Amino acid sequence: MPFDQFIGQGNAITMLRRSLQQDMLSHAYLFSGVPGTPKDDMAIVFAQAMFCLLHDDDACGECMECKKIEHGNHANINILKSDTSSIKIDEIRDIKQKLELKLSESEKKVFIITDADKMTTPAANSMLKFLEEPASGIIFILTTSNMKSILPTIRSRSQWVPLAVMSNITVRDTLVKEGFSVVLVNTALKMTAGIDSARNLLQTNWFAELRTVMIQLVKECFKNPIAASIYAQQKIIKSTLSEYIDSMFDLFALFFKDFIYLGGGKETHILFEDEKQWMLEHVHKHTMERWMELMHLALESKKRLRYNVSPQLALEKFLFNMKGG
Ligand SMILES: [Zn+2]
Repeated sequence: MPFDQFIGQGNAITMLRRSLQQDMLSHAYLFSGVPGTPKDDMAIVFAQAMFCLLHDDDACGECMECKKIEHGNHANINILKSDTSSIKIDEIRDIKQKLELKLSESEKKVFIITDADKMTTPAANSMLKFLEEPASGIIFILTTSNMKSILPTIRSRSQWVPLAVMSNITVRDTLVKEGFSVVLVNTALKMTAGIDSARNLLQTNWFAELRTVMIQLVKECFKNPIAASIYAQQKIIKSTLSEYIDSMFDLFALFFKDFIYLGGGKETHILFEDEKQWMLEHVHKHTMERWMELMHLALESKKRLRYNVSPQLALEKFLFNMKGG
């Protein structure tokens, strides 16, 4: 995957390509950016660009080297991605062992450490030693969403690569250009952080359906509460959508928020543009307080899932309350 997949990251890309073109790679890079910026993906592409057989300053994504890196089985690339809340000294010591294996003169070895801010102080100090006495051919790429937690001594020894925050408009336009519908894109962007997670959500086979079913369920509740329960049973509880009840609560909350906007005369703020007419016809069926209550109810129901309440039960209880039960 080439660098140009990272929309809005021109400055960072120019900086990285320049060091590749001039063959002036630093011993350490520190990619920073708010959650949702593609720091980790860019670290991989940068590593690919160092090894790519086709390009000198980019990754083709197709050659053997690029492929191996993409699949995580390139002998010269090590990725430390800690699943736990901290990166411990043992994990940095593993790197040290790998470093002791001799490299041939032209060979490069790349160590990518994601969420480097999770390093404990001993781990960070151990890391610092590598940076203080850099070995030829060894390149570290650290990524972080939290620059403040990176030791100043590590910061000062790394080439800083700040990633830009993409404006919401740029993100939306990019996804719409990729072929996703505007209303779905807008909804996905409210439920996730960053273009990649929004795209992942849009690419699932359930997201669009979940949104449609949620809207229909609210409509059924107005028309015929008994039919609404049957609808919920058939379309959610007894279907594969039952796995996504937590996301459904997000959708309910966003939908009710739109009613609050409409009631307050803020039509331009609404998310469910495609349902505007129906919402305008129904916004006065509840008081503002009631719409707010419903929104909070949805958020509360989602929270309850964290305490191991069964999703089906949470949904049934929510519907009962929504119907005014
Ligand atoms: Zn390549």
